[in-house]
Amino acid sequence: MMDDHQFRTAMSKFATGVTVIAAEHDGHIHGMTANAFMSVSLDPKLILISIGHHAKMRKMIESSGTFSVNVLSREQKDTSMLFAGQKQATHPYSFNTFANLPIVQESLVSLACTVHNTHREGDHTLFVGNVYNLLINDHAEPLTFYNGHYKNLQFEGV
Ligand code: FAD
Repeated sequence: MMDDHQFRTAMSKFATGVTVIAAEHDGHIHGMTANAFMSVSLDPKLILISIGHHAKMRKMIESSGTFSVNVLSREQKDTSMLFAGQKQATHPYSFNTFANLPIVQESLVSLACTVHNTHREGDHTLFVGNVYNLLINDHAEPLTFYNGHYKNLQFEGV
């Protein structure tokens, strides 16, 4: 049998990028670091994020019906730590605005999404987002997360 620790360790062996999800409701903007992100469909253009049921972000997205996904660059480790609660903010973060949504400036990619579907699965909620606009920054490299640690990878063809 496996325990929670073994399951977490197994999942941590899947190297990922790092995103910050941002949503606005009632004039308040909330950000949260997430690596449970995937592309789902090209037609229509759908992505998926998985948010812990007890995270504030879940209620924010349910209330607003929209969110942005910001893929972080290797220069944005502090931003990831800020929105994961690993580092305390001294002042409210200054978000940019794109397609009527808050976004994290200087990200590799920002996706503007409306909620297409929601699934409660175990202790997480899966939000399928319909991507209605996007920004791409071709001049940066990704922040990555592996085995519970941030990594700067060397990108070489194999
Ligand atoms: P909080 O914990 O209250 O907020 C998160 C942090 O963001 C707080 O420190 C808060 O001060 C700060 N913050 C939010 N908005 C602002 C603002 N406007 N100005 C300044 N600071 C602000 N959890 C998941 O559910 N799914 C995932 O896919 C996932 N992936 C992760 C990947 C990584 C690499 C890491 C490190 C963590 C991941 N987590 C994930 C955990 C998640 O990021 C934390 O549990 C997070 O604290 C939950 O956020 P919350 O919405 O409950 O709000």
